[in-house]
Amino acid sequence: MATMTVHACAACGQREFPERLLCPACGGRDFVDVDAGCGSVEDVTALHRRAGSGAGELAWLATVRTDAGPRVIAQLEGPLEAGAAVKLRLGADGAIRARQM
Ligand SMILES: [Zn+2]
Repeated sequence: MATMTVHACAACGQREFPERLLCPACGGRDFVDVDAGCGSVEDVTALHRRAGSGAGELAWLATVRTDAGPRVIAQLEGPLEAGAAVKLRLGADGAIRARQM
């Protein structure tokens, strides 16, 4: 698992996730990584996993507002309430995972 980061425009500081080619605020092309290891849950959705990966099993996805600013979609280990504080990590598969602090 890697540290979760978002991308800040080097010219104006606008923060984006995922990374963009151009800053939507100023058109800048240079971005720097900003730590986004913490956030708070805004919304949680339960998904039924597809057949073959465990009948009746649920997967949980959360919209998380990172402390750095941008919102991200993260996988949860189980249901959390809106407002829950979470730590964010980036998996080797590119998925963002959130765990309650
Ligand atoms: Zn900018």
